[in-house]
Amino acid sequence: MTKCKKCGADSPDLRWDKEHHEQTGKWRLFNQSLNIPHECKIKEKEEPKEPKMIVCRLCDPQDDKKKMTVEQYQIHKYSHLEFQGYRAD
Ligand SMILES: [Zn+2]
Ligand SMILES: [Zn+2]
Repeated sequence: MTKCKKCGADSPDLRWDKEHHEQTGKWRLFNQSLNIPHECKIKEKEEPKEPKMIVCRLCDPQDDKKKMTVEQYQIHKYSHLEFQGYRAD
């Protein structure tokens, strides 16, 4: 059994393509049963989605360090509500 180092596919159908190597000097895998050169199935890495960062309008909007995720803002905004409530009294 030959294993592709690039994509990790291993199959008894795969063999190193000697003819291709003789012609090009490069090794590639050949799928004997399909009679086609092996094509790597590279899994697309799921990139972690960057959380959307927002700036609290009640804080300094110019301050990039105050950027927070929406989840953080949901909690953060209560600090302003409390503050406003306190002033209203
Ligand atoms: Zn491969
Ligand atoms: Zn704020």
